[in-house]
Amino acid sequence: MDKLTELAELLFPDVTESIEDLEKRYPPRNLLEGAQVTRFAPSPTGFLHTGSLFTSMISYTVAKHSGGVYFFRLEDTDTKRTIEGSGRELIDQLANFGIIADEGYFPEGDKGDYGPYQQSERRNIYRTVIKELIKRGRAYPDFCTAEDLAKIRAFQEEHKILPGYYGAYARDRNLTPEERIEKIKAGTPWVIRYYSNGDHDKKTKFVDAIRGEIELQDNDQDIVILKSDGLPTYHFAHVVDDHFMRTTMITRGEEWIPSTPIHLDMFKALSWKAPKYAHIPSIMKLDHGNKRKLSKRKDAEAAVSYFLDAGYNPHGILVYLMSIANSNFEEWASANKSFDLSKFPFSIKKMSLDGALFDFDKLNYFAKEIMAKIPVEELYSLVLDWAKLHDEEFAKRIESDPAYFKKILNIERERPNPRKDYAKYSDIAPLTRFFYAPLWDEMKKSGLPFRESFDKATIDGFLKEVGEKMPYGVDEASWFSAIKEIGASHGFATSNKDYKANPSAYKGNVSDFSEILRVALTGAVNSPNLHEVIEILGKAEVDRRIALIIA
Ligand code: GLU
Repeated sequence: MDKLTELAELLFPDVTESIEDLEKRYPPRNLLEGAQVTRFAPSPTGFLHTGSLFTSMISYTVAKHSGGVYFFRLEDTDTKRTIEGSGRELIDQLANFGIIADEGYFPEGDKGDYGPYQQSERRNIYRTVIKELIKRGRAYPDFCTAEDLAKIRAFQEEHKILPGYYGAYARDRNLTPEERIEKIKAGTPWVIRYYSNGDHDKKTKFVDAIRGEIELQDNDQDIVILKSDGLPTYHFAHVVDDHFMRTTMITRGEEWIPSTPIHLDMFKALSWKAPKYAHIPSIMKLDHGNKRKLSKRKDAEAAVSYFLDAGYNPHGILVYLMSIANSNFEEWASANKSFDLSKFPFSIKKMSLDGALFDFDKLNYFAKEIMAKIPVEELYSLVLDWAKLHDEEFAKRIESDPAYFKKILNIERERPNPRKDYAKYSDIAPLTRFFYAPLWDEMKKSGLPFRESFDKATIDGFLKEVGEKMPYGVDEASWFSAIKEIGASHGFATSNKDYKANPSAYKGNVSDFSEILRVALTGAVNSPNLHEVIEILGKAEVDRRIALIIA
């Protein structure tokens, strides 16, 4: 047995498989030309970041549009940062958005032939690859302590030398196999480092699917690939997992661009074909005029749960994210009158390069468009489910009379140009309070916002006659001409033209007496279609309100 093999056996005596065995167990996928295998590979550190939702949406879209496979891998090698249960939480949150993996880690058990899909379950796969790298002299045990590494760093800092563990500064890089064997036998703790052949005076070039050609300094760092806890580092796990899971395109955050030479170097060392890379731009935020990345510490909107808790519809959020992913989305949506993301010809090449700015106005615009198109029965369940979790009082109100609430939701809905007033479910409760008698009574007690220029006598006189004469169950046009007649008998103009010709002859215009009626019944100067509001309230309630106002 040669010395490197002896070393490998000493380090990993229980590893009996070879890389060839793994190649057989995870054969290349049978894919149609052009089909992409993508993945979303979050760490279970607590919550779904808005940027991760963006990335996963793109991974999913690339796979689906190409007839490929999208899978989910749980990257739980950083045990200190792992938060129990967050794997399930990530899966559940993504499911809200319809981003459901074809294969991968699922809390109830893995699905697919390329697993395990949770890195902590893949120890033996990493160890098998590392054992062979040791035999080939492309990985080695390193015995440096934290103090040894600190000394190397201090020396580099003092002499203004590029920091890191490389070349002449990689203390244990050139130990002989015999020396290593001896240290191991003596029980010296070790980690495994990659033996880099790179040269930082040279360049690595690669083509990013979004950014085109990128040229970066070669990697010459002997990075740690297996930690003392027996788990791999991200760099090594990425290379091994994406090779054996047969990923064809790595869609990941742009923060990984600088590490790509390390990954390409390792693919080369293993004689594996590297996948394509598509580094997704970060979502940015304007902070006092400066663009910066959304931060989970500083920005509530960095967590997807923020939007779900506020009651944004997931489809609206995705549509918004697609509009930042491909700037031609909006044009496509208006030309095709469709927000069906499965039909949008997404193109990874058309991704905007500079970090997309998160824009609440735009999110609200899309959210309103989407919400307006949801049929009433479906919206009813969505709002109720949301309210049960986030606004108990609202949920009780809804359930006190489901048919009544559906009528409210259905105002100016289910028609070609529906009303777009709700961006999120939490907008609905405040805008619909007035429909409920006890809540209107509270509004009345704190004062209805009648314009000061209308005297009480005019308001009361007009409303009294409305109570007596307003017709119910008629079409909007007939209802409105009846209201106009009442307005006219109280000194209001019934057409803009008449009013403009001689304003001093009138107490006001059509919009003015409409406002009186609107404020009286809804407590606000803006409301949904007044005729529909009145029909929903019904004569008894309208008359009760009028009686209380003029009392
Ligand atoms: N676990 C890595 C992260 O959460 C994944 C990066 C990748 O997609 O490769 O940043």
